[in-house]
Amino acid sequence: MFLTISTTGTPERPATDLGYLLHKHPDNAQTFSTSYGIAHVLYPEASDERCTAALLLEVDAVALVRRGKGKGRGGAPDAALAQYVNDRPYAASSLLAVALSAVFSSAMKGQCRAKPELTGQARPLRIEVPALPARGGADLVRTLFEPLGWTVTAEPVALDAEFPEWGDSRYVRLVLESETLTLAEALRHLYVLLPVLDDAKHYWVAPDEVDKLLRAGEGWLPAHPEQKLITSRYLSRRWSLTRQAMERLELVRLAEADDSDVEEIDNAVEDETETEPEEKPTSLNVLRREAIVAALKASGATRVLDLGCGQGQLVQALLKDPAFTEIVGVDVSMRALTIASRRLKLDRMGERLASRVQLLQGSLAYTDKRLKGYDAAVLCEVVEHLDLSRLPALEYAVFGAARPRTVLVTTPNVEYNVRWESLPAGHSRHSDHRFEWTRAEFRAWAGAVAERHGYEAEFEPVGPDDPAVGPPTQMAVFTMRTGNTDRTTDKPADEVVKEKEANAA
Ligand code: SAH
Repeated sequence: MFLTISTTGTPERPATDLGYLLHKHPDNAQTFSTSYGIAHVLYPEASDERCTAALLLEVDAVALVRRGKGKGRGGAPDAALAQYVNDRPYAASSLLAVALSAVFSSAMKGQCRAKPELTGQARPLRIEVPALPARGGADLVRTLFEPLGWTVTAEPVALDAEFPEWGDSRYVRLVLESETLTLAEALRHLYVLLPVLDDAKHYWVAPDEVDKLLRAGEGWLPAHPEQKLITSRYLSRRWSLTRQAMERLELVRLAEADDSDVEEIDNAVEDETETEPEEKPTSLNVLRREAIVAALKASGATRVLDLGCGQGQLVQALLKDPAFTEIVGVDVSMRALTIASRRLKLDRMGERLASRVQLLQGSLAYTDKRLKGYDAAVLCEVVEHLDLSRLPALEYAVFGAARPRTVLVTTPNVEYNVRWESLPAGHSRHSDHRFEWTRAEFRAWAGAVAERHGYEAEFEPVGPDDPAVGPPTQMAVFTMRTGNTDRTTDKPADEVVKEKEANAA
């Protein structure tokens, strides 16, 4: 079971730098003991022009079985012969991935004490795995590696070279080539994707596998079009772990847009707009946007406010539909608006498109003349970011003063939180949530708001509607009653807000 990693170079940028990057000197053959057998690292060739490192793993089939049992995975007590006589020792597989991370751990993290300047540099790389078990065949191999910047050669290996009529085995000979990746990136791709292709990772799927996956997937997995397949296979299709990982990947995506500096945000936005939405797993964010767009269309709205628009994802989705002729994103956070304007590429947008969109800074706790006269307003995951005591002010600013015909409000359904396994009991989904409502609490609030301001409220689930705890997101669709009477508009707006604030204090 082995793989080779090759690079080319010049006297100024010698190929033997590979030795520094891997922390293994090209002149030595080295041996390491890993949990599943002995790993050897040696260099079949090492010159300025070409350098190849080979990793060979001699799997100890007996140790493998013992370890499997020792970890309490309930290996057959009768130690079936199949456990000893299988392809593990011969095929590159999950075990090779484990050996990779054990033997090249610094390289995988992108650390190189001797020549730190090398680690961030892409270099020509060629990786060959002569016998890779690949469930899903050569096509899946390409689907997994090509989006990461690899040129992929995956040839099916015949079951028996002398009997071609027997057809192909489940192995492929894999060659990956790239000029644009760093060695650390390459190793992290292999570490995750070898076991994914092997799809027989029986021995060590423990909860900390989610952490390992996310660490190794940093920088590439959150944007990979096959993220769901990768996550689910890597975690041996353990659904609870997979879901946990998918949720955390979603948080990574959000955090990336939140915390990184502007240039990184640019890249993230770039990446996001390049991927077709249908290639991505349907996250709750996507479902929410779909539900909102559908409800807006059903209401016949064309001029729409996105209140608390955040980083502009909904504005972006609405812009794609020409039915929405005017879209105004409002947020109190300048930072969020800056990101939104980059996402939308407002400064480079053609005039026609630009005439349909506006971003405004403003607080929803105050009445705002600019928000009057629109068909619909959306509050997508916003109300829970305000202190309960500020909610009457928002209610007045939206339903009392701006008064669009339709208002959509989405908010988490706290009852569903027990279904998010990564969420410790009693914690809310986001550190900035001031509260999270049950379905009954949301309905009580929305019903009272509708009553006070002359609207009708209807409720829709967003996401899977769990029979016991309901959907993850709840949405209220407020429609203004015809000939409505707004019980609060007989007073000047600012006075009402002041009064409400005084009451709340
Ligand atoms: N609607 C977006 C963002 C939700 S996060 C989405 O679904 O992705 C909540 C947003 O509300 C944040 O961007 C926050 O800045 C904004 N927000 C919170 N309080 C606000 C207020 N008083 N006025 C305007 N925006 C507010």
